[in-house]
Amino acid sequence: MALEIDLGPEAAAFRDELRAWLEANHPSELEGVEITPGEQHPGIPAWTEKLAEAGYLCVSWPVEYGGRGLTGVEVAVMNEEFARAGVPRATRGMGEWLVGPSIIVHGTDEQKARFLPRIISGEDTYCQGFSEPDAGSDLAGLKTRGVVDGDEVVITGQKVWTSGAQSASMMFCLARTDPDAPKHRGISYVLLPMRREDGEPNGIELRPIKQITGASHFTETFITEARAPVANVIGGLNNGWRVTMTTLGNERGGNATTQHVAYTRDFWRTVELARKQGKETDPVVRQDLAWAYTHCEIMRFAGLRTLSEVVARKEPGPGASINKMFWSEYAQRFGEIQMGILGAEAMVRPPDGSAGDYALGRVQRGFLSNRSVTIWGGTAQVQRNIVGERVLGLPKEPGMAGSPPKAPPAPAEQAASEQGAGAQGAGAQGAGAQGAGAQGAGAQGAGEQGTGAQGAGS
Ligand SMILES: Cc1cc2nc3c(=O)[nH]c(=O)nc-3n(C[C@H](O)[C@H](O)[C@H](O)COP(=O)(O)OP(=O)(O)OC[C@H]3O[C@@H](n4cnc5c(N)ncnc54)[C@H](O)[C@@H]3O)c2cc1C
Repeated sequence: MALEIDLGPEAAAFRDELRAWLEANHPSELEGVEITPGEQHPGIPAWTEKLAEAGYLCVSWPVEYGGRGLTGVEVAVMNEEFARAGVPRATRGMGEWLVGPSIIVHGTDEQKARFLPRIISGEDTYCQGFSEPDAGSDLAGLKTRGVVDGDEVVITGQKVWTSGAQSASMMFCLARTDPDAPKHRGISYVLLPMRREDGEPNGIELRPIKQITGASHFTETFITEARAPVANVIGGLNNGWRVTMTTLGNERGGNATTQHVAYTRDFWRTVELARKQGKETDPVVRQDLAWAYTHCEIMRFAGLRTLSEVVARKEPGPGASINKMFWSEYAQRFGEIQMGILGAEAMVRPPDGSAGDYALGRVQRGFLSNRSVTIWGGTAQVQRNIVGERVLGLPKEPGMAGSPPKAPPAPAEQAASEQGAGAQGAGAQGAGAQGAGAQGAGAQGAGEQGTGAQGAGS
């Protein structure tokens, strides 16, 4: 019997309300559909608008900014109920779970009034312009320049691995606006329009990169004198690192309470697959499935622990790195198990596979795309550094010449130490812990949905 946790009367009331709404509005054509990058089900946009009308987007943003002010517990309930109903929890993507929470914490009143409603309405869709060819784990080593020209910032440089850039209307872009300041202090966080008002590209050229799955969900991004109003700089000029830490905290910890939902669903599908392949009595397959089920349950309970942390501390702490490390490594191993169950079929392209050069089946696509999940959002090695230093209190990585850059700090601690003040971050306003997992990251294809950058050393 599954252990149920009593989340209290408010969560129970919210669950009843949501369950009733989902029963009344259940889109049967979307049953079992997952939100995956690229090949979107045609019913998703209408479903997203329906969720918007009912106030089920940006739910953990405070009410005054157009959200519902849901607690982390209620967000977890929401994810469970969508999973129970078998329909995808559509969101406004990076705008909802990365940019909005960062604006809520660091933006001015004018910026909140301008940008937040445009995220909720879907008018602005965001991609993340953090990583550069020589600045991934060592994000603060970024070289893209921003020069203030009157009331505009003019940005020139190169980004890479920019997920969703082709469909985004805005980029949250890091640019070095003070080249003479110490590494972390001269960076600005700019909301950069992808196009000018006349519809022409804003000095931004996108060159799609082909991924192992055959899809091209991210690009090399060349920026030549792209312009954004200075009013689009969040957190103040040269003060973007603090904002970046808030964004990364949400990227790593935001789905802690949700990803087990997708993985558990995929686990049961895989049990069905084992039956179909006549392998359900194979002792090795049974052992692998038992391993997977145990891991899904660990994720569920670890998620609840992170959730209580978020509720109590108001933001994900370094424990978010344990979360990221655990689910990403699980996803890769589970993909291998699934391919093993599929057996020789795994080597053959299915006739009904996805479109494109490679035409992959669901399991094949998940297996391949999950190679990337230990990279985006901070690599598994970088997460281990954070866990070692910030959770276990081990000595810092030696900064020897030629060694990899120093491990990134936990977002909360970095923010706190830079301000000499207590913890802050998106969660402090109740905006974090959004549930990136609901984005469709998770069991299949999480990698390509994922964004990126890693948060590099102080
Ligand atoms: C699918 C996908 C989507 C992405 N989407 C986006 C996006 O939308 N926007 C964006 O800005 N970025 C995005 N990224 C980029 C991603 O954030 C970076 O790839 C990641 O941060 C690693 O940086 P890097 O590729 O430069 O590798 P590097 O930092 O060069 O790392 C190379 C290797 O060295 C190891 N290493 C580096 N530093 C250390 C250290 N201190 N200790 C131990 N080992 C270390 C790493 O773990 C890795 O194995 C995406 C990446 C992927 C794969």
